[in-house]
Amino acid sequence: MAEFANIIIDISHEKLDKAFQYRVPAHLQETLSLGMQVEIPFGNGDRAATGYVVGLSGTPEYDVDKIKEIHGIVEGSIPIESQLIALAGWMRENYGGTMNHALKTVLPIKQKTKEKKQREIKLLLKPGEAKEQLALFEKKNHKARARLLLALMEQNPIPYEAVTGKLNITASVIRAMASMGVLSVEEKRKYRSPFGQEFPQEKKRLVLNLGQQGIVDRIWQDFLEGNHKTWLIHGVTGSGKTAVYIELIEKAVQQGKQAIVLIPEIALTYQTVVRFYQRFGERVSILNSKMSAGERYDQFERAKNGELDVMIGPRSALFTPFSNLGFIIIDEEHETSYKSETVPRYHARETAIERARMAGAAVVLGSATPSLDSYYKAKQGEYTLLELEKRIEEKPLPACEIIDLREELKQGNRSILSGRLEELIKDRLKNHQQAMLFINRRGMAGFVSCRSCGHVLKCPHCDVSLSQHNNGKMVCHYCGYEEPVPKVCPECGSKYISGFKAGTQKVEEIVKKRFPEARVLRMDFDTTRNKAGYEKILSAFANQEADILIGTQMIVKGHDFPNVTLVGVLAADLSLYVSDFHAAERTFQLLTQAAGRAGRGRLPGEVVIQTYSPEHYCIQLAAQQDYARFYEAELQCRGLMGYPPCGHMMAMLVASPDEMTAFLCAELLSQKVRQAQAKGKLPGLTVVGPTNAPVAKVKDIYKKVIYFKHKEYPELVKIKDVLETFVNSHREFANVTIQFDFNPMNGF
Ligand code: ADP
Ligand code: ZN
Ligand code: ZN
Repeated sequence: MAEFANIIIDISHEKLDKAFQYRVPAHLQETLSLGMQVEIPFGNGDRAATGYVVGLSGTPEYDVDKIKEIHGIVEGSIPIESQLIALAGWMRENYGGTMNHALKTVLPIKQKTKEKKQREIKLLLKPGEAKEQLALFEKKNHKARARLLLALMEQNPIPYEAVTGKLNITASVIRAMASMGVLSVEEKRKYRSPFGQEFPQEKKRLVLNLGQQGIVDRIWQDFLEGNHKTWLIHGVTGSGKTAVYIELIEKAVQQGKQAIVLIPEIALTYQTVVRFYQRFGERVSILNSKMSAGERYDQFERAKNGELDVMIGPRSALFTPFSNLGFIIIDEEHETSYKSETVPRYHARETAIERARMAGAAVVLGSATPSLDSYYKAKQGEYTLLELEKRIEEKPLPACEIIDLREELKQGNRSILSGRLEELIKDRLKNHQQAMLFINRRGMAGFVSCRSCGHVLKCPHCDVSLSQHNNGKMVCHYCGYEEPVPKVCPECGSKYISGFKAGTQKVEEIVKKRFPEARVLRMDFDTTRNKAGYEKILSAFANQEADILIGTQMIVKGHDFPNVTLVGVLAADLSLYVSDFHAAERTFQLLTQAAGRAGRGRLPGEVVIQTYSPEHYCIQLAAQQDYARFYEAELQCRGLMGYPPCGHMMAMLVASPDEMTAFLCAELLSQKVRQAQAKGKLPGLTVVGPTNAPVAKVKDIYKKVIYFKHKEYPELVKIKDVLETFVNSHREFANVTIQFDFNPMNGF
């Protein structure tokens, strides 16, 4: 029971840094909770103010006699800020960091920039009255007044600037007419528009097919019964998931509810936005990282003022201050961009589920390749699984072929293009169809493999590959094991052993040389520095201004190119041997998504997967597009190692500008835990490390990581709290910073 509460006075957010402590009167100690709005005395005169509870504690932070008492809890509906503050409290608890970090994540930062205001002049008289008034002005020879009134009778309202400018009417005339009750001057706040371009206006509606309608009916029925679940729609690429989301949102909007749609930024294209705009018009808005803080703030204000029904955006759109939320949709729910890489390192999916719980909303997750975590939860009954097994109009999934690059090398082909892929590209060029070449670039961390036999060097203690470091050694990022890079392959003795790299530019050169007649577009980080570049390449390819599109993962996300009938994956295993237990999952997802780009139009598609590991289950099953079997195989591997989703994992980062301090602190922390274990405490806990972080030094800060594994998430939270207190209370660790990452996805 908390005797004291930390309260922020105002939500104008520069003041977020400062919370004031108040005493909680005895009769409120049972009820007061995080996020509640309270009445408090504030300032010298103890004037009445309102504030929000952002922390509760049992100990006073300063002289008890000077701490003022809370007057009471503000009655009535919980304002949206309270809900978001309570959500911040939940995030702090479950992901670590301070309340401040969490508050800054959920509340938009108010911008000091001047608000753009638009004023307009509105006629208040009915047509008959206006005519009489006009006659009066003319009789009295009030020319300016007559001119303005006449103008207003033709166009109502008129922008203020047009009246003072074009009509040449002075402010005093306007004031006089306003005081007569002829007109009024109204201020309209002008929000910065989120859309850079115009959208087609016509409303468009698809007739859902049976599978789609079945899903909509089930979710909606459940929603009406007020029993709001988390749904997982597993639908192959092009099966019509987006159409399902739109239908559900429309139903919710008709009941006065709002919806948040999370989409990975890379898939938030003009094409996607248009589909929502055609249904919801100006009542939909978007967020993206290219917007200024002011533009983002404006969109949040519009949401709060009830001007919007739908917000589409990446992770941060989750905190849109809608007060009557109906649905949170998370498309491509398996994407790693839903996990924050800054404190608090929250996962948008889990956070969405908590927000929905608070708001009485439902969550709909969708993916062609659900994350192992979500599918596991669906199997356990925590989420409800729904399947869309067929593509729209029953278009067949493309036929996939696996090409063994080791065989190509044996036959003397050292090119990045296999014989078969070359042949198919030639065929497409001849038939005026398009091809996409996808370079799996995720594995650039530099794993070491043999080009003759495909052997990849792995850590003997962990199921991850070793990473090549600049000092000529290979290191395991999970346990710290290291060994020098061998001169010959330990498996077959070949000397073709090296870190593997392949860039998009290199591929572009090769393709252009091999097919000089082909028109080639390249899409990668370089050619898409700005948002316009990205859209330009996409639309050029969609308009068939090019025959071949070469790119990294960004070309495989959600785009619809009906004339693409060939997809080539150049090095499927590049993402397979990164030092991360998600490697097989990511590879399966990428390959399935890449394959999903082929054959979306009239013509069937073909996919060629080039790989050095053709026998690997994730490549085999991706080629067969068999998610269910991949899930079973992968889950077994995770289970053996105690990795999520078969258990939970917490990574703790210990960082310091002094390497010795970081090392000692990390050692001390892990020893402390191990000593407790030796005494029979902390059953079920596994401690790994400390070890150097994958990038051991960043900007002269040394980073050590300790991993903790446990079946139960709350057990890890408890360990976090103990370790956090320990570091904060030891002065010798004053220059140590710590961070926690629960069920890490991207690593430190
Ligand atoms: P997903 O989100 O599963 O990839 P989409 O909703 O984008 O699938 O649908 C794929 C394509 O099929 C889109 O071009 C969409 O306009 C079209 N589509 C979706 N549902 C229908 C339908 N019921 N009838 C006709 N076309 C549809
Ligand atoms: Zn070998
Ligand atoms: Zn290891």
